[in-house]
Amino acid sequence: MKKVLLFGATGSIGKQTLDIISRFRDRFTLLGISGKSRLDNLLEISERFRPPLIALPDEESVSYLAERLSYKPEFFVGDEGLSRMASEPSADVAVVAISGIKGLIPAYYALKTGKRVALANKESIIGGGFLLLSCSQTSGGEIIPVDSEHSALFQLLQKYGESSLRKVYLTASGGPFIDWALEDLEKVTPELALKHPTWKMGEKITIDSATLMNKGFEVIEASVLFNLSPERIEVLIHPQSTIHALVELVDGTIFAHLSKPDMRLPIAYALFYPERPTLDVADLSFNPSLTLNLFPPDFQRFPCLALAYSALKLGHPYPLILEASDEVAVPAFLEGRIKFTDIPRVLEKTLNEFTIRYKPSTVDEILAFHEEVKNFTEEMIKSL
Ligand code: NAD
Ligand code: MG
Repeated sequence: MKKVLLFGATGSIGKQTLDIISRFRDRFTLLGISGKSRLDNLLEISERFRPPLIALPDEESVSYLAERLSYKPEFFVGDEGLSRMASEPSADVAVVAISGIKGLIPAYYALKTGKRVALANKESIIGGGFLLLSCSQTSGGEIIPVDSEHSALFQLLQKYGESSLRKVYLTASGGPFIDWALEDLEKVTPELALKHPTWKMGEKITIDSATLMNKGFEVIEASVLFNLSPERIEVLIHPQSTIHALVELVDGTIFAHLSKPDMRLPIAYALFYPERPTLDVADLSFNPSLTLNLFPPDFQRFPCLALAYSALKLGHPYPLILEASDEVAVPAFLEGRIKFTDIPRVLEKTLNEFTIRYKPSTVDEILAFHEEVKNFTEEMIKSL
């Protein structure tokens, strides 16, 4: 029986992880959960799975849950609580499904204490991937990516690894605006941008999918996780989200990874690896309407993608700056403070104008640096 810590239990990935755990109750038990808000949902999850450990943002949330729960778990509070629960020695796996840079905390401490980390949180890889990798090398911990394209690449690279690899391709649905004229993108509303054609996800990542910033982040993620130079990573638009990644070998042969777009597949893969579980949640049917299109992206229409390549080439801490700035630009768009097409403008301005006084190299430094970039972006948006 594997003991699982689930960080971000109330989110989109969190819920799908609970679905997998409930299908395999004989294999996994929920040792701990964390969540930031939606306390009623956390209450429900706790009663259903009875995790003995619960991490919450503050004492108020602790009282709220403690008064209503039918059992007495151990509570962990705040950022320190995240690191302490992640370090819990009896846990085998930590699923890190928190959104935002705070995901770095549980990812780092779970790896440091030698655990497997099923890593959905991409911000931590973008901003502190070097730290996570070096930490896992010394501790014996391991990262199994949950982001679907990286799970696909991880699986392909197991078979067609290093020596014969020429390059990799990540696919992008292209989002809801792939067919829009460039000049119409100005008129995109939050409501339209929140309608993702193929995936159901949290709000932030849905907007990032519409700008293709998400794919840009994933290029950075792939570079860090698989030690690939930017030139060896290409993006292909693939509106059906059925092919998740491809690898091209030195003789020109290409292998692709296909599945229905359902995050439960990569989540289950990361939990079971190297075993493959029997699952029937997302079988792909080759019905007559299934067509598969793949074509290169238009970098002019999606400047965020180009910004990601630039940041990656510049190296640490530019990807961190880009990601932090986006964490401010996306809510500003959702709140109607900036236009859809202002998102890349804000990000580019931050990349160009934020003064780097030091290269953050620890978890605390990365979090503090991230906060500084967010403040800078916030001020800049006000002055627009
Ligand atoms: P979400 O917004 O649905 O859920 C986020 C979860 O994290 C919630 O449980 C929330 O309470 C918790 N959380 C947020 N901020 C926190 C903080 N500061 N401290 C503690 N907990 C906090 O997000 P999501 O769509 O599930 O995405 C989670 C992560 O997985 C993101 O990094 C995202 O980029 C990545 N990801 C998601 C998908 C997807 O299909 N949803 C796919 C690939 C990667
Ligand atoms: Mg993805």
